[in-house]
Amino acid sequence: MGLQIVDKLIANNKKWAEETNRNSPGFFDKLAKQQHPEMLWIGCADSRVPANTIAGVMPGEVFVHRNVANLVVNTDFNCLSVMQYAVEVLKVKYVIVCGHYNCGGVKAALDGKQFGLIDNWLANIRDVYKEHKEEIYKLDSYDERFDRLCELNVRQQVYNVCHTTIVQNAWARGQELTVCGVIYDVADGLLKDLDVVVNSKELLNEVYLVDK
Ligand SMILES: [Zn+2]
Repeated sequence: MGLQIVDKLIANNKKWAEETNRNSPGFFDKLAKQQHPEMLWIGCADSRVPANTIAGVMPGEVFVHRNVANLVVNTDFNCLSVMQYAVEVLKVKYVIVCGHYNCGGVKAALDGKQFGLIDNWLANIRDVYKEHKEEIYKLDSYDERFDRLCELNVRQQVYNVCHTTIVQNAWARGQELTVCGVIYDVADGLLKDLDVVVNSKELLNEVYLVDK
């Protein structure tokens, strides 16, 4: 007998695979051949925000990258590699940055307390905080400031996606690609549109344009 947690995983998985096959016969045969996801999802690593579940989509429908606080950092080869493969090889049509309220990473950045190495990763959120300090300080309660920083962080990450050569070269080639931001509320299970949609270089600050 293996580890109890592995036994449990395997038993749960078997049940799920059987159910899925029963509901959609041939599902796995079809997926085994190829994937054609329409969107890349960049979300938080938080256990409460599983991409497929909250988006209500099946395996094969979304290409996923998750890290602490759904950050897009221009020196992160992991995230950049996921984006490059999704955009250039899979040719996804959408990049969705999904943040969430009550994000521990955003809270740590807001509170300014040390948690270890991760504080250096979260410095990227403190940059967002600094940029919007006046707006955030005007809010009355801590909860409002926390919620707003979660939203502003998503917005910034949408732009960070667009500032990469990956996205700008896709647009230059005439590839249709829309980058947008949504936020998930762990308290009610609902996604909210943040109305930040970028689908051409004209919507970017000229400082970030990198023509070939
Ligand atoms: Zn989070």
